[in-house]
Amino acid sequence: MSGSYEFDDVIVGWENHPFYTSVLQVMEKAGRAIQLDPNVYNRLSKPKRVLYVSVPVRMDDGSIQVFDGFRVQHNTTLGPAKGGIRYHVDVNLAETSALAMLMTLKNSLVGLPLGGAKGGIRCDPNKMSRREKQALTRRYTSEIFMLIGPDKDIPAPDIGTDAQTMAWLMDTYSSQVGHVVPGVVTGKPIEIGGSLGRVDATGRGVVYNIIEAAKRLRLDLNDKTRVAIQGFGNVGYYSAKILANVGCTIVAVSDVSGGIYNSKGVNLEELRTYIAQHRTVKGFPGGDFVSNDELLELDVDILIPAALSGQITEKNADKIKCKILAEGANGPTTSEANEILFSKGVFTIPDILANSGGVIVSYFEWVQGLQNFFWSEKDVNNKLWEKVSHAFNRVYEFHLSKKMDMRHSAIAVSLEHLSKAMLYRGFFP
Ligand code: GLU
Repeated sequence: MSGSYEFDDVIVGWENHPFYTSVLQVMEKAGRAIQLDPNVYNRLSKPKRVLYVSVPVRMDDGSIQVFDGFRVQHNTTLGPAKGGIRYHVDVNLAETSALAMLMTLKNSLVGLPLGGAKGGIRCDPNKMSRREKQALTRRYTSEIFMLIGPDKDIPAPDIGTDAQTMAWLMDTYSSQVGHVVPGVVTGKPIEIGGSLGRVDATGRGVVYNIIEAAKRLRLDLNDKTRVAIQGFGNVGYYSAKILANVGCTIVAVSDVSGGIYNSKGVNLEELRTYIAQHRTVKGFPGGDFVSNDELLELDVDILIPAALSGQITEKNADKIKCKILAEGANGPTTSEANEILFSKGVFTIPDILANSGGVIVSYFEWVQGLQNFFWSEKDVNNKLWEKVSHAFNRVYEFHLSKKMDMRHSAIAVSLEHLSKAMLYRGFFP
C-alpha cells in the first residue's frame, strides 16, 4: 500500500514533490476564495525550519545502521509547533514538509493555539526489535533536542509510532534537562501524564465528523450503512470500532498486505486477535480476500482511507462509489481526484477536519499536563465533540455559501483565522 507519489530522493528536490505541490495548489485555490494576502501565501508556501539528522543505531547483529530523520516546523504563528513523528520506509523531506504544512492548517482550522510540525525517520519499524526501536528513538530525540520542548515544538504519534515511542522520547528529553518534562510530547501512556481518550481520539474524531455529515446529508447510520476502511492501524481500528458501536456494518478492512470483505460485517475483535498472532490481515478466515485497490472501489456508503497518502488518484477516483469519504489518513486523495469526486457528488470530509481528533486530544493532554489536573474520559470526549462539530459546521456553512468543495472550504476557513493572526504579528524584521 505504498503511496502513489513516486519520489526516490530522500532530501533533494522536495519543493517539487507532487504531494507538497498539491497541498500548495489547494492552499492557493482556497486562498483565492477569501482574498488571501499574497504575502501570507508566500510565507506559508515554505516551512519555517527544517532539521535533517542522521541517526546511528547499533542493531541486534552488532552492526551500526545509520537512518535518515527529519523534524520540520512549518509555522509557529499560533503557538508552539505541533505534529507527529512517523517511522516508515518512505519517509522523506518532501513528505514530512507537506505533512507539517497540513498540521499548521489543521491546528488553525480546529482553533488550537498551536503551529504545525512533523517529523519522521526513514526505517521499517516492523523489521526492528524493541531494543533497536528504543535506541533509534532515543538517539533521534537527542539529535532534535534543540528544536523540541513544551513551549517550542511538541511531537506525538503518527504512522509507525505509539505511546511507548513517546515515553522513550519524553524520558530522553527529561534526562537531558535533568527533570521530568511531560509536556514535551503528547500521546504518552496514561501512567506518565497521558490523557484518557487520546489513544482512540483520531478514530473518534473521524466518527464524530461522519455523524455530523450524515445529519446534513439525511443519511441514517444503522446496520444497513456499509463501511469500508483502508488501513487497520490506530486510526482504522478505532474508526471501525466506534462506527460499529454507532450501529454501522463494517464490511471491509485492510492493512498493507490486503483486505478482508464480509457483507454481513467483519468481526473486529476476532480480526484484532488474529492480527496480534499473525501480524497481518492476510489469511483471516472471517471473510473473503480483497486487494487494497478493490477495497477503495467497493459499493459502500462510507469509505475511510486510514493508511498512507496518495491512494485515491485520477486513476481510480471515477470508480469510487461511497456517499461519504472520510479521510482518516493525511493526504489520501490527490487534487485531481478531489475534483473528480466533487463532480461525482461524493461528500468528502477532508483530512485536516476528519482526522483532527488526534491533535485536538493531544492539545487537551498538553493542557492537562501544564495544569497537573487530569480530566475524566467523558469530559475529554465531550470537549472533543464540541471542537469537531464546531469546526465541521463552520466548514459546511462555507461549503454551502461559496459552493466550494469541503477540502477547499476547510483550508479557506483555516486560512481566514491563520492569516489574521499572521498579519497582526507581522513579518520580522
Ligand atoms: N499525527 C497526528 C496527526 O497527523 C497527531 C498529531 C499530534 O497529536 O500532534 O494529526
